[in-house]
Amino acid sequence: MAPTHVLRCCQRGLAWIPVIFIALVVCWSYYAYVVELCILTIPSTGEKLIYLVVFHLSFVMFVWSYWKTIFTRPANPSKEFCLPKSEKEQYEKEQRPETQQEILKRVATSLPLYTRTGAGAIRYCDRCQVIKPDRCHHCSACDMCVLKMDHHCPWVNNCVGFSNYKFFILFLTYSLVYCLFIAASVLQYFIKFWTNDLPDSHAKFHVLFLFFVAAMFCISILSLFTYHLWLVGKNRSTIEAFRAPVFRSGPDKSGFSLGFSKNIAQVFGDQKKYWLLPVFTSQGDGLSFPTRLVTVDPEQPTECPQPGVLDKGTVEGPAEQTSPLSDSQNRLLGNDYHGEEDHKEIDVLKSDESEAITISIESES
Ligand SMILES: [Zn+2]
Ligand SMILES: [Zn+2]
Repeated sequence: MAPTHVLRCCQRGLAWIPVIFIALVVCWSYYAYVVELCILTIPSTGEKLIYLVVFHLSFVMFVWSYWKTIFTRPANPSKEFCLPKSEKEQYEKEQRPETQQEILKRVATSLPLYTRTGAGAIRYCDRCQVIKPDRCHHCSACDMCVLKMDHHCPWVNNCVGFSNYKFFILFLTYSLVYCLFIAASVLQYFIKFWTNDLPDSHAKFHVLFLFFVAAMFCISILSLFTYHLWLVGKNRSTIEAFRAPVFRSGPDKSGFSLGFSKNIAQVFGDQKKYWLLPVFTSQGDGLSFPTRLVTVDPEQPTECPQPGVLDKGTVEGPAEQTSPLSDSQNRLLGNDYHGEEDHKEIDVLKSDESEAITISIESES
């Protein structure tokens, strides 16, 4: 036990290295910009003041959103998603997967679930011993089930999911603003140092590197930023972009899409004044999500709901085409799925800056 514990502590410590690296780069960029560029290099007081005000605004917003992304704990499934004591005992005693599924289905009838595994089974995490809510995935790095998990980000040493997805988007936004502003305002002094219009000093080294580092981060953040904006517009997580959630009508990448403006509101809330602030304004509880079952099953035209939102009275499309949660949920859960028992789920762990993608496969049965 002891060596495992030590190993885990070491792993936890090492996981902070990327965060410490970013923090050191940010601290250095602050010193280089404020002291070396603004105080020691820029001669004009007016220019100096404008640069310092804009710089500090973007710096505060960037650090604030980064802090919130790192230290907001991932949200986990609530107690209702745990098996009641008697069912849990039954489930543990039971060896046959089919009977285990029957137990899970019985418990799941009272839960707001629209999605299943690819094989049609109730999504259950053996590690956390919970029925996984829609869009929830087990993160092997955090060793927990995370609501609306997007990916595990090493640059914030945290899971990006329901509780901090807005903060993560703002972190990307403000880091881009921060880097763009630095690169744009440093450019003329970069050129002057480069062409020897300004005398050689230790400020030269800082200003040259400031431009290179800001430009490099700009380029690497830009692709990730535009990708996540596209995902927000589609109401899709990174995991769902790689592997479509499975509804009754089959896998559907756009199953949770409610239309562009409603998709934005899902993450940022409906009050625009809070959109740019790293305070939690996402809609819902992370346990259930409005959905539209877009793929109409031609063989069951009367049973399959038409496109429209089927959750908690949120309505899109004609009113007669929607139904309350319990109704659609019961119809969904009442539909029997058949398939292999040891279905595998792909959890995508995406490394942000490098965009390297690691895919780990976990057993879900
Ligand atoms: Zn889990
Ligand atoms: Zn994680």
